[in-house]
Parts: sequence; structure tokens; C-alpha cells
Amino acid sequence: YLAKEGRTGVELYQPDKDRNSPERLNLLGDLRRAIDNSELQLHYQPKVSLAGGAVTGVEALLRWCHPVHGPIPPSDFVPLAEQTYLMRQLTEYVIDAALEQAARWWHNGLQVQISVNISARDLLDAALPEQLEVGLTRYGLPPSAIQLEVTERILTGDQAYTQETIKALATLGVPLSLDDFGTGYSSLIRLQRLAVSEVKIDASFVRRIAESEDDDRIVRSIVDLVRSLGLRSVAEGVESDEVALRLAEMGCDLGQGWLFCQPMPAADATAWLGDRFAPAPGIEYGYQPEVT
Ligand code: C2E
Ligand code: MG
Ligand code: MG
Ligand code: MG
Repeated sequence: YLAKEGRTGVELYQPDKDRNSPERLNLLGDLRRAIDNSELQLHYQPKVSLAGGAVTGVEALLRWCHPVHGPIPPSDFVPLAEQTYLMRQLTEYVIDAALEQAARWWHNGLQVQISVNISARDLLDAALPEQLEVGLTRYGLPPSAIQLEVTERILTGDQAYTQETIKALATLGVPLSLDDFGTGYSSLIRLQRLAVSEVKIDASFVRRIAESEDDDRIVRSIVDLVRSLGLRSVAEGVESDEVALRLAEMGCDLGQGWLFCQPMPAADATAWLGDRFAPAPGIEYGYQPEVT
């Protein structure tokens, strides 16, 4: 898992191994320390308007530079953290770091919406909306300065508790984005019942629209449905001009992917955003920060 080619060459963690395997416990211990030792960093990947190339928001993606093993991708440690109480700490860290960066950008006229990935399990935590409210107030940011990306798994599991948190977020005004759409359990119809404002079409469909009629039709119908529900559509994994053009022609609102740029550290993202930022509907820009 961690030891995929070109990485450490040592097998650190396999998800199917014993819960108490030394590898798993080591990595969890390292991650616990990483949170305090600033080994974690957020990189930012823009969401680009497919119609004109303007940028309205960025997605924050977590990076871990392990002192011994080097960079460890989130797919190798987020699922591990998700099985433990560490996930809560990780999400707390990510939200704080994202709000701090949002404040830096907003107060310098770059009013981009920062999307943060959270785990379905985070929605069981009543403290999440509270943390957001406190953070937004502290930095003088409107609730739409941040957005939470969740996967369709919010539809499974403990619905009652999850619904409570989703309601609290809606009251607060923090928007939700449905990530990796198409890979999970929800039918298009169930979208309607979710309090989401954005749907991100999974890269596995997007990547193939230029080659496969079926994938083209699937993505087209998702884009149409998302639009008819009054939501914003985002295509993940846009890697070629051809795919971007097709998506634009379908009426897909935003695209993200290597065609535009990779996720970048904050300083690089600031430079990249420079003249590309554009206001987007649904975000309050005239917000008067409370003085605290
Ligand atoms: P995601 O939220 O669906 O993020 C999209 C992933 O696709 C990112 O991988 C991004 O770097 C990658 N990507 C972007 N454009 C392209 C492209 O054109 N081609 C290809 N092949 N890939 C592209 P990354 O950063 O490795 O993150 C993987 C997953 O880890 C994320 O999927 C998200 O589910 C999770 N994750 C990342 N950061 C966090 C975090 O702070 N908290 C939580 N809970 N999960 C996170
Ligand atoms: Mg995401
Ligand atoms: Mg995704
Ligand atoms: Mg994904």
C-alpha cells in the first residue's frame, strides 16, 4: 500500500492487515506527531470556469511530508485516520489552516472560496459547525468563503446524526459539495434530498468522455440534472483540451485537473490566482467583518 513502487520499498501499512499491526500503529503514531510538528501542509487546486477560464474557488488537499519516508499521499493515510479519533483532529487542523489561508487571500482582494475535504464521519460531530462558526468570526469571513466536500457515503451510516450536522451547516450558511459523484450509491434522484450546492463528477467518468460514448452520455446526463436542480457542476480530473471543450459544450460549470494546474503550495497558488480570480454567484463578497 504505502510501499507502492518508487516509494519506500518497505511495507508500512496494508488496510486488510490486523488493526493492531505494528505498521498500522506506527503510522498512526507518526500521524499524531505530524499534526503538531507541521509536517502537514495544504496544497490548493483551482476550480476553473469552463466557459472563460476564470477561477472562483480552490480545493485544499492535504500533504504529509514524513521526515523519514518522504511525501505520503492522502490516499495512504486519510483512510487510516478515518478509522480512529485522529480523523477529527486532522479535520480540525485542515479547517483551521484553510480558514487562515482564506483570510490571507480575502483581505488581499482574492476572494476565492476554499473547499475542504471532510470525511463522512466528521458529519457525526456536532462540534464541526461550531468550529466553523468560531473560525469564520475570528477571521471576519462570510460562511461562503469555505465549502465542505463530502462523498456520497453521507447517505449511508448514521443518517439522523448526520442530518443534524448538515442542518446546522445550512443554518450557518456553509455550503456542501458532493465529491466523487457517480462512484457511490446515490441515484441522481437522491441528489434532490441532499442540501448540497455543488456536485463534483468523478474523474473516472470525466477522463473517458472523449473516448467512450457511454461515459459521454453519463456525464452529459449528470450535468443536465445538476443544472436542472439549480446546482453547480464541477468536473474532476480534466487532463486534456478535448475533454475541457466537451465539458464546456455540455454546459458543465467548472473543471479541475492537470490541464489547468496541479495542486500547489499557498505561495504558488497566490501567484497563479493573481489575474484569474473572478467573483462567483452564491458567494457574499460585500461582507462586513465583525471586529473581534
Ligand atoms: P478528492 O477530494 O476527490 O481530490 C481529487 C484528487 O485528484 C486529488 O488527489 C488531486 O490531487 C487529484 N487530481 C487533481 N487533478 C487531477 C488530474 O487531472 N488527474 C489526476 N489523475 N488526478 C488529479 P490527492 O490530493 O492525492 O487526494 C486524494 C483524496 O484524498 C481526495 O480526493 C480526498 O478524498 C482525500 N483528501 C485529500 N485531502 C484531504 C483532507 O484534507 N481531508 C480529508 N478528509 N480527505 C482528504
Ligand atoms: Mg475533493
Ligand atoms: Mg473528488
Ligand atoms: Mg476522487
